[in-house]
Parts: sequence; C-alpha cells; structure tokens
Amino acid sequence: MVLRPMNTLKVEGRRVLLRLDLNVPLKDGRVLDDTRVREAAPTVRTLAERGAIVIACSHLGRAKGKPDPALSLAPVAPVLQKHVGRTVRFVPDVVGEAAQQAVSQAKPGDVLLLENLRFEAGEEKNDPAFCAKLAALADVYVNDAFGTAHRAHASTAGVSAHFPERAAGPLMAREIAALTKVRDNPDRPFVAVVGGAKISGKLETLTSLATRANTVVLVGGMANTFLLAQGVGVGTSLVEADLVGTANEILAAAAGRGVAMILPTDVVVATSPDAPGRTVEVGDVPAGEAILDIGPQTRQRIAQLLTKAKTVFWNGPAGVFEKPAFAAGTLAIAQALAASSAFTVVGGGESVAAVQQAGVAAKLSHVSTGGGASLEFLAGDALPGVAVLEEGVK
Ligand code: ADP
Ligand code: MG
Repeated sequence: MVLRPMNTLKVEGRRVLLRLDLNVPLKDGRVLDDTRVREAAPTVRTLAERGAIVIACSHLGRAKGKPDPALSLAPVAPVLQKHVGRTVRFVPDVVGEAAQQAVSQAKPGDVLLLENLRFEAGEEKNDPAFCAKLAALADVYVNDAFGTAHRAHASTAGVSAHFPERAAGPLMAREIAALTKVRDNPDRPFVAVVGGAKISGKLETLTSLATRANTVVLVGGMANTFLLAQGVGVGTSLVEADLVGTANEILAAAAGRGVAMILPTDVVVATSPDAPGRTVEVGDVPAGEAILDIGPQTRQRIAQLLTKAKTVFWNGPAGVFEKPAFAAGTLAIAQALAASSAFTVVGGGESVAAVQQAGVAAKLSHVSTGGGASLEFLAGDALPGVAVLEEGVK
C-alpha cells in the first residue's frame, strides 16, 4: 500500500481541502476533550506555514444531513486556533455561497474551518453532486482523519476522484504504518489481547487476529461467551448466548493453526458493578453473580506473556474499569504493555481511555485513536478512505 505523504505535495499558493477528525465531545457549546483538536493542529500549521490556503473540514456527532446548532463546529474553531497558533476563520457553511466566497477571499497561509460536513445530506450518502461541490473549493486534497476512513462518505471517499493530487496527512500515515506492521509484518511472538463488552462488532477482527497472532488473550465481557462455549458457568455475566457456536468456531480455527487462545483462569465477581467484588476460580462463579474483571492469577499470566512478546495489540478493557473495584485487570494490562519492550499498539475508545487513565500512553509504540477504523483495518478490510488515497487510484 503506497500512500503519498503530505510533504511531497506542492501546496504553496494552493487551496488544500483538509479532512480532519474534529469529532470532539461538546457540552453547552464547550469542547470537553480537545485531544483530537490538539492532534490535528500540527497538520494545519504545517500546511499554513508552507503557504497553503487551508480549508479544514470535519464531521461532528450524528447530525442527520441538516443543520443542528448543537453540533456546530463553531466552538471548535477557537480551540483549533489556540493549538495551531494562527487565526482560524470559522465559515458557517459547507459548500454554499458563503463557503465559496470565504475561500475566494482567502490568502496563502490562511486557515478556514467549514461547518459540520454532516449538516449536508450528501456527506454520508457520498452523493456525487455534493462531492463535486466540495471538491470545487480546493486544488488538492489531504485526508488526515483515520477515524472515519472506514466510512465511504463524500469527504473521505467520493471527493478524492476530483483531485489528481491527494495525500495522506501525518496522523493518517502514522496510524497506517503502525497497524500495517501489526497486521502484515509483526515481530514474533505476536500477542493480541482482546476484551471489551461484546464479541459482536469485533467478530471479524477477532477471527483475523486468531489467524495472525501467536497468542490471543481473551478478557472482559467477550471472554464470558468463550467461557460459556467451554461449558463454564458464568452466572449473570454479560454474555452473547447466540454466539456460543461462533466462539467455538473461532477456538477451533485457532487450534488448527497452532494459535493459543488464553481465557481467564480466575475472575472477580459481584452481584452488580456497585457491589464489592471478590476473586473466584473460573469454575466457581456463583449463579447469582457476574464476572466483572479478571483475577490476579490471570493478570500475572498476561503480564508474563506480554513480557516475552515482540508485538502486542490490545483492544478492549478486561473488566468494568469505570468502577475502581473492577479496574485492576485493565490497569495491569496497561502497565504490562508499558513495561514491555515489544512493539505495542492499543486501539479502541475505552481501551485508549484506560491507557490514558493509567498514564502510560507515552510508553506505548502507538495509541490508535481510530476505534472502529483500526479494528476494521486489522480485520483485513480495505478502508474506503485509505483505498482512495493509494497511488495510481483514479
Ligand atoms: P473499546 O471501546 O476499547 O473497543 P468496548 O467498547 O468493546 O471497548 O468495551 C468497553 C466496555 O466493556 C467498558 O465500558 C467496560 O465496562 C465493558 N466491560 C469490560 N468487561 C466487562 C465485563 N466483564 N462485563 C461487562 N462489561 C464489561
Ligand atoms: Mg467502546
């Protein structure tokens, strides 16, 4: 996969349509967490310093193809401005006359931020007419929004056909480099740790990892379904009983390829996440209680595996880590990753939050903010937003 890096694109004096991921949580018109804005800022600054007219765009939330004042990108513009260190002019329009006029008045080095792309029905529909209008605003195209690369929307997919010159932004390039290494060329042993709430939604990724990794460690709610598949009583735990057959198939496929699938041997149980927990052997889960974390013996076993690994991918918390009583397993995995000399990659919303909570993000090789996109990438799927950036694609 050959993606053109942004620094080889001639941008001086040219209008650059820059797709960013500025999908930040808002409350009462305030940005609650500016991580994504902070991460996007260097890309904007680089382009502006190189004399581009930067036309930044993003979606925010689930606007349903029409304007929704609560989902305006307006409050994001001053935050972006602060992190970029240059004026960011918010344009309360996407492709209409106001947007066209703002672009025509802009000078090299200026930065514009368009209104939420999803205020336009054509965005999520990847509508050709909308793609043409969006593309008409600019001369070249840069996509730095890996988190939406698994969606074939106008700004991530359809628009690119209008640009002979397009490139992957630095955040996108970094995500793809790290995830490609994990997926296609991992140093071995490669240990994948997969947890979180459920198997459904991660089935393809799990199946893929069960063929690519040397060891797959199953934790969190999703391990419960595998335990059930092995005939272990799981009490009132979160399980997907309808996926017991699928779980067995994954276990059988892994066994056939010599991939070790590791399940918890001890767990922390409680009557509810608000009740105190206690550790039991995995065969001893009481009928009226739920598995809410992995136990100390399992934590230690995982830490040992991670010490010996050369590549580690982790997605999904090991327990209900939002509650301190059930966070030990998740924090232990985060610490073990931080201590490991392996190439370590973490992906997923809650997993990344856990890594930040543990204060170890800087000690990992790569923290993927891609969520769904990183899981689809590891499943082996071609991401539409990446495919259109590949060299030679028309
Ligand atoms: P990610 O966003 O990292 O991909 P998921 O969204 O799949 O992770 O799952 C995160 C959620 O899984 C957390 O909110 C956590 O509380 C929940 N979870 C983990 N283990 C369990 C468990 N044993 N029972 C119920 N929920 C669990
Ligand atoms: Mg999640």
